[in-house]
Amino acid sequence: MNDYIVLCDQIIRDESTKKYSLIGLFNRLNSNYFPSVIKPFNIFLQLNQVEKLEHRLIIFDGEKELFNGEFTGDIERNGIKFPDINMVAVIPGLQIESESILNISLYYNDEIVAETQLVVDFPPKPNFRELTRDDIGNIISDEGVIKTSIAEIQCRKCGTSHKYGISIDPYNPVPDDVSSIPENLVHECRNCKTREWIGPMKHTLLDSLGKKPPQQN
Ligand SMILES: [Zn+2]
Repeated sequence: MNDYIVLCDQIIRDESTKKYSLIGLFNRLNSNYFPSVIKPFNIFLQLNQVEKLEHRLIIFDGEKELFNGEFTGDIERNGIKFPDINMVAVIPGLQIESESILNISLYYNDEIVAETQLVVDFPPKPNFRELTRDDIGNIISDEGVIKTSIAEIQCRKCGTSHKYGISIDPYNPVPDDVSSIPENLVHECRNCKTREWIGPMKHTLLDSLGKKPPQQN
Protein backbone atom coordinates (compact mmCIF):
# COMPACT_ATOMS: atom_id res chain seq x y z
CA MET A 1 0.00 0.00 0.00
CA ASN A 2 1.27 3.45 -0.88
CA ASP A 3 1.59 6.47 1.35
CA TYR A 4 -0.78 9.28 0.57
CA ILE A 5 -1.37 13.00 1.10
CA VAL A 6 -4.76 14.65 1.66
CA LEU A 7 -5.36 18.42 1.68
CA CYS A 8 -8.22 19.64 3.84
CA ASP A 9 -9.72 22.55 5.79
CA GLN A 10 -9.89 20.88 9.15
CA ILE A 11 -8.57 17.79 10.97
CA ILE A 12 -10.19 16.54 14.15
CA ARG A 13 -8.75 13.82 16.35
CA ASP A 14 -10.97 11.89 18.70
CA GLU A 15 -9.11 11.67 22.00
CA SER A 16 -10.57 8.32 23.06
CA THR A 17 -10.19 6.37 19.81
CA LYS A 18 -7.23 8.42 18.45
CA LYS A 19 -8.96 8.38 15.08
CA TYR A 20 -8.76 11.29 12.68
CA SER A 21 -11.65 12.95 10.83
CA LEU A 22 -10.83 15.04 7.78
CA ILE A 23 -13.22 17.84 6.82
CA GLY A 24 -13.37 19.85 3.61
CA LEU A 25 -11.07 17.90 1.28
CA PHE A 26 -9.83 19.82 -1.74
CA ASN A 27 -7.34 19.88 -4.59
CA ARG A 28 -8.23 23.28 -5.94
CA LEU A 29 -8.27 26.79 -4.51
CA ASN A 30 -9.61 29.97 -6.06
CA SER A 31 -8.16 33.43 -5.67
CA ASN A 32 -9.75 36.66 -6.93
CA TYR A 33 -6.34 38.18 -7.65
CA PHE A 34 -2.68 37.39 -8.31
CA PRO A 35 -0.09 37.73 -6.85
CA SER A 36 -1.85 36.41 -3.80
CA VAL A 37 -1.25 34.69 -0.47
CA ILE A 38 -3.42 31.62 -0.03
CA LYS A 39 -4.74 30.96 3.44
CA PRO A 40 -3.09 28.28 5.64
CA PHE A 41 -4.36 24.75 5.13
CA ASN A 42 -3.97 21.29 6.63
CA ILE A 43 -2.14 18.31 5.21
CA PHE A 44 -2.83 14.78 6.37
CA LEU A 45 -0.25 12.11 5.65
CA GLN A 46 -0.85 8.38 5.80
CA LEU A 47 2.52 6.62 6.00
CA ASN A 48 2.55 2.87 5.63
CA GLN A 49 5.20 0.41 6.73
CA VAL A 50 7.32 3.12 8.26
CA GLU A 51 10.71 2.01 9.48
CA LYS A 52 11.76 5.45 10.67
CA LEU A 53 10.45 8.96 10.42
CA GLU A 54 12.80 10.93 8.21
CA HIS A 55 10.39 12.45 5.74
CA ARG A 56 10.45 15.77 3.96
CA LEU A 57 7.47 17.61 2.49
CA ILE A 58 8.15 19.94 -0.44
CA ILE A 59 5.70 22.22 -2.24
CA PHE A 60 6.96 23.27 -5.65
CA ASP A 61 5.24 25.64 -8.09
CA GLY A 62 7.17 24.49 -11.18
CA GLU A 63 9.86 27.12 -10.70
CA LYS A 64 10.61 27.41 -7.03
CA GLU A 65 10.02 25.78 -3.65
CA LEU A 66 7.23 27.43 -1.68
CA PHE A 67 7.55 25.16 1.34
CA ASN A 68 10.14 22.69 2.62
CA GLY A 69 9.53 20.98 5.94
CA GLU A 70 10.85 17.93 7.77
CA PHE A 71 9.14 15.22 9.78
CA THR A 72 11.54 13.49 12.12
CA GLY A 73 11.20 11.71 15.41
CA ASP A 74 10.57 8.44 17.13
CA ILE A 75 7.79 6.15 16.06
CA GLU A 76 5.59 4.46 18.65
CA ARG A 77 5.98 0.86 17.68
CA ASN A 78 3.90 -1.02 20.25
CA GLY A 79 5.63 -4.21 19.23
CA ILE A 80 4.92 -3.76 15.51
CA LYS A 81 8.04 -3.83 13.37
CA PHE A 82 6.86 -1.47 10.59
CA PRO A 83 3.81 0.42 11.87
CA ASP A 84 1.45 2.58 9.85
CA ILE A 85 1.27 6.13 11.12
CA ASN A 86 -0.58 9.36 10.40
CA MET A 87 1.01 12.78 10.36
CA VAL A 88 -0.63 16.18 10.34
CA ALA A 89 0.94 19.41 9.13
CA VAL A 90 -0.33 22.96 8.89
CA ILE A 91 0.98 24.69 5.78
CA PRO A 92 1.35 28.44 6.34
CA GLY A 93 0.02 31.00 3.85
CA LEU A 94 1.93 30.52 0.59
CA GLN A 95 2.83 33.39 -1.74
CA ILE A 96 1.42 32.56 -5.20
CA GLU A 97 2.56 34.70 -8.13
CA SER A 98 0.10 33.52 -10.73
CA GLU A 99 -2.34 30.73 -11.55
CA SER A 100 -0.39 27.56 -10.80
CA ILE A 101 -0.40 23.85 -10.28
CA LEU A 102 1.54 23.14 -7.10
CA ASN A 103 3.23 19.77 -6.68
CA ILE A 104 3.10 18.58 -3.10
CA SER A 105 5.59 15.75 -2.61
CA LEU A 106 6.65 13.65 0.35
CA TYR A 107 10.23 12.40 0.21
CA TYR A 108 11.87 9.57 2.08
CA ASN A 109 15.52 8.75 1.36
CA ASP A 110 15.43 11.23 -1.56
CA GLU A 111 12.59 9.30 -3.18
CA ILE A 112 9.04 10.51 -3.59
CA VAL A 113 6.75 8.21 -1.56
CA ALA A 114 3.54 10.24 -1.91
CA GLU A 115 2.44 13.06 -4.15
CA THR A 116 -0.58 15.23 -4.88
CA GLN A 117 -1.34 18.45 -6.73
CA LEU A 118 -3.06 21.67 -5.76
CA VAL A 119 -4.49 23.87 -8.50
CA VAL A 120 -4.62 27.58 -7.63
CA ASP A 121 -6.73 29.52 -10.09
CA PHE A 122 -9.22 32.32 -10.62
CA PRO A 123 -12.83 31.33 -9.84
CA PRO A 124 -14.61 29.27 -12.52
CA LYS A 125 -16.33 31.33 -15.19
CA PRO A 126 -19.95 31.99 -14.19
CA ASN A 127 -22.87 31.48 -16.57
CA PHE A 128 -24.07 34.93 -17.47
CA ARG A 129 -27.57 35.40 -18.75
CA GLU A 130 -26.77 36.50 -22.29
CA LEU A 131 -29.05 39.08 -23.86
CA THR A 132 -31.04 37.75 -26.82
CA ARG A 133 -31.58 39.73 -30.01
CA ASP A 134 -35.14 40.43 -28.80
CA ASP A 135 -33.92 41.64 -25.41
CA ILE A 136 -31.53 44.04 -27.11
CA GLY A 137 -34.24 45.28 -29.51
CA ASN A 138 -36.61 45.94 -26.62
CA ILE A 139 -33.99 47.78 -24.59
CA ILE A 140 -32.92 49.97 -27.52
CA SER A 141 -36.51 50.97 -28.34
CA ASP A 142 -37.32 51.88 -24.73
CA GLU A 143 -36.41 55.54 -24.15
CA GLY A 144 -36.08 55.49 -20.38
CA VAL A 145 -33.78 52.54 -19.68
CA ILE A 146 -30.04 52.05 -19.29
CA LYS A 147 -28.30 51.07 -22.55
CA THR A 148 -24.72 51.78 -21.58
CA SER A 149 -23.27 50.70 -18.26
CA ILE A 150 -19.83 51.64 -16.96
CA ALA A 151 -18.01 50.64 -13.78
CA GLU A 152 -14.70 51.67 -12.33
CA ILE A 153 -12.22 49.33 -10.69
CA GLN A 154 -9.36 50.40 -8.43
CA CYS A 155 -6.30 48.20 -8.30
CA ARG A 156 -6.19 46.61 -4.85
CA LYS A 157 -2.42 47.03 -4.72
CA CYS A 158 -1.61 50.46 -6.18
CA GLY A 159 -5.03 52.13 -6.43
CA THR A 160 -4.80 52.89 -10.16
CA SER A 161 -8.32 53.14 -11.52
CA HIS A 162 -9.64 51.66 -14.71
CA LYS A 163 -13.06 51.76 -16.36
CA TYR A 164 -14.96 48.92 -17.97
CA GLY A 165 -18.24 49.18 -19.76
CA ILE A 166 -20.88 47.47 -21.85
CA SER A 167 -23.03 49.28 -24.41
CA ILE A 168 -25.80 47.86 -26.54
CA ASP A 169 -26.65 51.23 -28.05
CA PRO A 170 -25.06 51.39 -31.52
CA TYR A 171 -25.25 55.20 -31.49
CA ASN A 172 -23.62 55.54 -28.07
CA PRO A 173 -20.70 53.15 -27.73
CA VAL A 174 -18.61 53.27 -24.56
CA PRO A 175 -16.19 56.26 -24.50
CA ASP A 176 -12.54 55.84 -25.53
CA ASP A 177 -11.25 55.70 -21.95
CA VAL A 178 -13.52 52.74 -21.16
CA SER A 179 -12.45 49.19 -22.01
CA SER A 180 -14.70 46.31 -22.89
CA ILE A 181 -14.55 43.39 -20.48
CA PRO A 182 -11.92 40.81 -21.44
CA GLU A 183 -13.15 37.34 -22.39
CA ASN A 184 -11.23 35.71 -19.51
CA LEU A 185 -12.76 38.18 -16.99
CA VAL A 186 -9.30 39.11 -15.70
CA HIS A 187 -8.28 42.75 -15.28
CA GLU A 188 -4.56 43.51 -15.38
CA CYS A 189 -3.45 46.76 -13.74
CA ARG A 190 -1.57 48.84 -16.32
CA ASN A 191 0.65 50.25 -13.57
CA CYS A 192 1.65 47.31 -11.33
CA LYS A 193 0.40 44.30 -13.35
CA THR A 194 -1.67 42.91 -10.45
CA ARG A 195 -4.42 40.78 -12.00
CA GLU A 196 -7.93 40.69 -10.62
CA TRP A 197 -11.00 38.66 -11.46
CA ILE A 198 -13.90 40.85 -12.59
CA GLY A 199 -16.65 38.25 -13.03
CA PRO A 200 -18.90 40.01 -10.46
CA MET A 201 -18.39 43.35 -12.24
CA LYS A 202 -19.54 41.91 -15.57
CA HIS A 203 -22.59 40.47 -13.84
CA THR A 204 -23.48 43.88 -12.36
CA LEU A 205 -23.00 45.68 -15.69
CA LEU A 206 -25.09 43.16 -17.64
CA ASP A 207 -27.76 43.23 -14.96
CA SER A 208 -28.22 47.01 -15.13
CA LEU A 209 -28.95 47.07 -18.88
CA GLY A 210 -32.63 47.59 -19.65
CA LYS A 211 -33.40 48.81 -16.14
CA LYS A 212 -34.65 52.25 -15.23
CA PRO A 213 -31.79 54.53 -14.09
CA PRO A 214 -31.80 55.42 -10.36
CA GLN A 215 -33.95 58.47 -9.57
CA GLN A 216 -31.99 61.70 -9.26
CA ASN A 217 -33.47 64.37 -7.02
ZN1 LIG B 1 -1.90 48.27 -9.68
